[in-house]
Amino acid sequence: MRLSRYFLPVLKETPSEAQIASHRLMLRAGMIKQSSAGIYSWLPMGFKVLKKIETIVHDEQMRAGHIPMLMPTLQSADLWKESGRYDDYGKEMLRISDRHGRDMLYGPTNEELITDIFRSHVNSYKDLPLTLYHIQWKFRDEVRPRFGVMRGREFYMKDGYNFDLTKEDALHAYNRHLVSYLRSYERMGLQAIPMRADGGPIGGDYTHEFLVLAETGESEVFYDSDVTDLSFGDREIDYDSVEQCQGVLEEFTTKYARTDETHDEAAFNDVPEERRRTARGIEVGQIFYFGTKYSEALGAKVQGPNGKPTPVHMGSHGIGVSRLLGAIIEASHDDKGIIWPEGVTPFHCGIVNLKQGDDEADAACNQLYAALTAAGLEPLYDDRKERAGGKFATMDLIGLPWRITVGPRGLKNGVVELTSRRTGESVELSPEEAVKKVA
Ligand code: ATP
Ligand code: MG
Ligand code: MG
Ligand code: MG
Repeated sequence: MRLSRYFLPVLKETPSEAQIASHRLMLRAGMIKQSSAGIYSWLPMGFKVLKKIETIVHDEQMRAGHIPMLMPTLQSADLWKESGRYDDYGKEMLRISDRHGRDMLYGPTNEELITDIFRSHVNSYKDLPLTLYHIQWKFRDEVRPRFGVMRGREFYMKDGYNFDLTKEDALHAYNRHLVSYLRSYERMGLQAIPMRADGGPIGGDYTHEFLVLAETGESEVFYDSDVTDLSFGDREIDYDSVEQCQGVLEEFTTKYARTDETHDEAAFNDVPEERRRTARGIEVGQIFYFGTKYSEALGAKVQGPNGKPTPVHMGSHGIGVSRLLGAIIEASHDDKGIIWPEGVTPFHCGIVNLKQGDDEADAACNQLYAALTAAGLEPLYDDRKERAGGKFATMDLIGLPWRITVGPRGLKNGVVELTSRRTGESVELSPEEAVKKVA
């Protein structure tokens, strides 16, 4: 992409309504524009990162054997009345009525809808296990939408639902989700720690939240500092293996790590004092096993091996796709701007032409652009007639991992400058070597 042809409405001023770094930086970098409280338009660069995160989530769900589909944003209230949650959900649910006066709602989550699909089409235990998921916009009329996309009213979420014959099978599904979530967050350059949490309105005893440690997080968390040394890494895992998935769960959830809702002072005191930590965290996902709560309420039964109708064991599992942009930026920025992890960066490399209009510099930039593209990368070429200082500031703000600076002086010696956004270190290299280093 050439910056002169792109739409990147960078703000010079720091927006006063933004209280935290990620919100400020997303506005300044022209990624989002508020349309009304907690509702945003996703401008091209914000949309690009959103799609990258979505792709990682899809990839890892499919790797775990979970099946993508898509349910609507607007739902009929009937199913919610059947499950009993229409009244329970309260003011967070946006209720709408259509021209015929029928009660509708903008879905805050999808347990009812998916259970209805299941009960309509699945009758036998032989069709289990089954895990379906979708990535779709949700609406929750939050009392205090704030921090930009972190607590929106309209937000993008991956929600998955497992249907199993037994509690044992459903707990395997729970563990598969834990593993796939660990992998997803790591691919985004994030450490998200599974912590024992509270079931809340969805219910159930088995639930973990995934938290990214950050001072601006809304949750208070307590943990053994050893949990921050854990990482899934690039190990192989067989998602069909109950033992392997259970092993990962034990590895990642045995040490003390809880949110304030489940915090237990006595158990925490068993952690050696020098390893006890209290901090703030951002909830970027949550997994639940809730047994037969919805399948009983909605009559989602299958014929079991004994021929008798049996309510299925279920769980639901969410990732805050749009919130993750904020969480990633909270975890990775400096006073100049965003520092994108490689896995989610909107462009792989910026090209800064120090002397736009100079034949040699222009030709060198065009060649670099072509070489990077041929290597399967997406460069962003700042080909505007601007001062070098302004171009550097924009590149620092939007946070691409690499910048290649091209100017007539370097070209005389056959070199360009390659700068790492994270370390700030620059090296002079031939254009070919620079492309190799970035790729
Ligand atoms: P919170 O405690 O922050 O209100 P939640 O526990 O109500 O979140 P879940 O029902 O667990 O949310 O939904 C799954 C995920 O969706 C959350 O872990 C979070 O990442 C994301 N999410 C929830 N509410 C919002 C929101 N208002 N804006 C953006 N993302 C959200
Ligand atoms: Mg909530
Ligand atoms: Mg929560
Ligand atoms: Mg939650």
